[in-house]
Amino acid sequence: MSDLLKELYQEIILDHGNTPRNYGECEPFNKSADGHNPLCGDKVHLTLLVDNNNIIKDIKFTGEGCAISIASTSLMTQNLKGKSLDYANSLFKDFSNLVTGGNDKLELITEEDSLYSLKGVGAFPMRVKCATLSWHAFKSAIDEK
Ligand code: ZN
Repeated sequence: MSDLLKELYQEIILDHGNTPRNYGECEPFNKSADGHNPLCGDKVHLTLLVDNNNIIKDIKFTGEGCAISIASTSLMTQNLKGKSLDYANSLFKDFSNLVTGGNDKLELITEEDSLYSLKGVGAFPMRVKCATLSWHAFKSAIDEK
């Protein structure tokens, strides 16, 4: 990976860590979940509004934590808003592969993708939990009946 690309990824994480997108609570919402990463102290509260066609009309979060967890949650909401749950499930799989160095080929995430900026956390197992916290919260929100 080139230094320029590394710098760009770092900038994306800093930007989203400092100025998280979609911060707050959906009004109204019909799905929600909480996530907690005791290893780092990250907490996230997610609310979603999913319509009858399984489209994520709105997704917002509140919480506190390290820059990685906040940036990852912010990027997640940005990438899921307006998308279908099917797409979201595929993106969840891709993102898990991305940050755990899974050997499965990525189907949706490319190097140009903002989510790719989090690939670097794969080198730090503790940080993987920070980056995936909100995604697991998202999964439990949409999987609950
Ligand atoms: Zn963390």
